[in-house]
Amino acid sequence: MLEYIILIVVVGVLLLGVGGSMLLRPRGMHGVRRGRARELDLTGPMPKASEQNSSGTGTATATAPPPTIERPAEPAAPPRPSLEKPPPSAGRMVRLRARLARSQSGFGTALLVLLSRDRLDDDTWDEIEEVLITADVGVTPARQITSDLQTRVKVEGAKTPDEVRAMLRAELLAQVETEASRALRTQRHEGRPAVVLVVGVNGTGKTTTCGKLARSLVGDGETVVLGAADTFRAAAADQLQTWGERVGAKVVRSDKDQADPASVAFDAVAIGIEQEADVVLIDTAGRLHTKNDLMDELGKVKRVIEKRTSVDEVLLVLDATTGQNGLRQARVFAEVVDVTGIVLTKLDGTAKGGIVIAVQRELGVPVKLVGLGEGPDDLAPFDPATFVDAILGG
Ligand code: GDP
Repeated sequence: MLEYIILIVVVGVLLLGVGGSMLLRPRGMHGVRRGRARELDLTGPMPKASEQNSSGTGTATATAPPPTIERPAEPAAPPRPSLEKPPPSAGRMVRLRARLARSQSGFGTALLVLLSRDRLDDDTWDEIEEVLITADVGVTPARQITSDLQTRVKVEGAKTPDEVRAMLRAELLAQVETEASRALRTQRHEGRPAVVLVVGVNGTGKTTTCGKLARSLVGDGETVVLGAADTFRAAAADQLQTWGERVGAKVVRSDKDQADPASVAFDAVAIGIEQEADVVLIDTAGRLHTKNDLMDELGKVKRVIEKRTSVDEVLLVLDATTGQNGLRQARVFAEVVDVTGIVLTKLDGTAKGGIVIAVQRELGVPVKLVGLGEGPDDLAPFDPATFVDAILGG
């Protein structure tokens, strides 16, 4: 009897167990499978509502747990652009010579053609002088060059095209060369960074030059801090920031519009000293309201820097395409600050390369750098022989 009771209990328990699992299992499995099916469905066309109803799974769909939709991973932050490795400054002018030749050969070729005439009469010498003046050499230097050439022709009697070319080359070179060194003072000294102030009228290419120069110095292995002291143009600071970021140069700027340029310059120099940089380049504002404004502003920037260290270079940026007007502006700057070097920009865009001669004579300061395009590495140390050869189409 007891055996019967035990058997009934065991059978009952077994039946309940199987029934329970039969009742529970389809639900649970179904749910999971459905979830998976849905996940897969997401990659293909979604089933139509009518199809779902006809398959008789409408109820199950309503009661099944919502399908788990895997969220696509958060898009990764764009990788920081890797630092660029700019080329060193040496030999750049030779590399860019073709660009110079393209824009300058008009003036050089015209001189060669005139000097090669069989008879060099007064009219021809007048024409030679005119070509030089048109090329922005300036009236006085144009007369000087013409008279020197006349003397040479009389003495040497140059005749063959090669001789004529050699004579003109020597004369132009004599006019372009200066006694003053064209080397940039950008080396650390007395345990402090060199400080370079970049000045010039807005639009001449001042900020671009700061950026290109920073690149070129980095290419030469120097560490650079940039100071965005042109606080009157927010875009200038942004522009400088972009230049700096590309080559890993620290950019010091104010977060306020129209901040005091002198305080930005001071901060840049302080950071340059603290970080033991080789050189601090400071982009200044180029507003030219009155000479007094300019004098006040640049004078203050310089004085404030000199509380910490010396200013080693004051580079005046001049747009080569602006001719006599640009020269007039350059003169004002030279009266306000002690310019130590000229950066002649946009020399790729003019056939008036004579401005090199004019500006050096006018200011008594050498052209140290030339801008030969809008590309990041289109700034080159100025080399007189390469320049003259380019003018003569060589
Ligand atoms: P800033 O107002 O003096 O700071 O002038 P920017 O640096 O903003 O430059 C003014 C414009 O001149 C920009 O479009 C530059 O790309 C352009 N520029 C600067 N240097 C050169 C150069 O050497 N050649 C050419 N073709 N354009 C230049």
